[in-house]
Amino acid sequence: MISSDPERRRTNVVCVVGTRPEAIKMAPVVRALRDQSWARCRLVFTAQHRDLADPIFELFDVRPDVDLDVMRPGQSLPDLSNRLLVSVHQALMRERPDCVVAQGDTTTVLASALASYMLGIPFAHVEAGLRTHRLDAPFPEEANRVAATHLASIHFAPTPTARENLLREGIAPEAVHLTGNTGIDALHFAAEREAALPHGPAPGARFVLVTVHRRENLGEPLRRICEGVRRLHDLHPDVEFLWPVHPNPGVEPVVREALGSLERVHLSPPLDYGPFVTAMKRATMILSDSGGVQEEATALRTPVLVLRDVSERQEAVRCGVARLVGADPDAIAREGGRRLAEATDGDRRSDFATPFGDGRAAARIASILHRKLHVEAPTTVGV
Ligand code: UDP
Repeated sequence: MISSDPERRRTNVVCVVGTRPEAIKMAPVVRALRDQSWARCRLVFTAQHRDLADPIFELFDVRPDVDLDVMRPGQSLPDLSNRLLVSVHQALMRERPDCVVAQGDTTTVLASALASYMLGIPFAHVEAGLRTHRLDAPFPEEANRVAATHLASIHFAPTPTARENLLREGIAPEAVHLTGNTGIDALHFAAEREAALPHGPAPGARFVLVTVHRRENLGEPLRRICEGVRRLHDLHPDVEFLWPVHPNPGVEPVVREALGSLERVHLSPPLDYGPFVTAMKRATMILSDSGGVQEEATALRTPVLVLRDVSERQEAVRCGVARLVGADPDAIAREGGRRLAEATDGDRRSDFATPFGDGRAAARIASILHRKLHVEAPTTVGV
């Protein structure tokens, strides 16, 4: 239950993150909360993606206070879920927060929501209400976010569509707050810093940026995506490709075997967030199965072909930036060719006011948390 401890006179908020996208989207929230005199904000890192998240903490200058170090070699999803739940629960017992905040739809988020629920601590969910309405896609993220919703007591919806989804599932309107997506705040932060590209295309070259990491694309779909990239490559001799390859052991060998010998295809390790934002800005087109990249591409007005059959970011499709092509090589070559022919290089306008947010989501979240946790009676958010 909520208490404003008179000794410390501040409300204890614990933010939990585990993966790269959570680190990116929670960094603005942690920064905003650490600026508040009413809050004492502690960052708990489960280290689901240690190597990918560490540079983000550095970029945003938000060091974790607690590192749970949950990953073990070859760990299955049930093992990971188990370890996460127990570790986060123990951390919350030690931290005794007034509120737990987590973002998105990873196993870290589900574990945080569940551990908070078990301890009777209010759970605030950032980027709440995204839905494909298909429990198998993305797997296990759709199930994670649905479950997190029903364990949360404060919901920060990034878009009107997400808000509608929550209301349709019976969440009380006063518990749902439309804030915009904190990923757009992060994009502002990184874009202002203009990092250089360490790998790949020469300055001025036309290039396609590619990322793939979703579980449902591993195996045969990934081979089909590589085939689509190869066809695009063969049809467009003036175009280069930059593919920062996700470290998942199911991705790297497949991509390297299919495309590693092609001179105009630059395979690189994952890029740090700053250089990756530069790559998204400079790319003629993006091919990706990432959720965050769809939002960022929309803000940067870089066309994106979504390597998935369904998307919870229909706003990107509706405004014409994104198009769903799945893992179909024909669709990738056809739609890719069309987009490359249409795309203008060099004069693309960065427009951060997008359907996904205006770059001020974290400030809104901090101010709503202040009202809910510090000003209003504790009973308004208690579970
Ligand atoms: N990203 C990055 N380096 C890369 C690829 C992606 O910094 O090499 C960033 C990207 O800008 C976005 C986030 O990672 O903010 C997306 O992460 P991911 O695709 O792993 O997860 P999703 O958004 O699908 O949950």
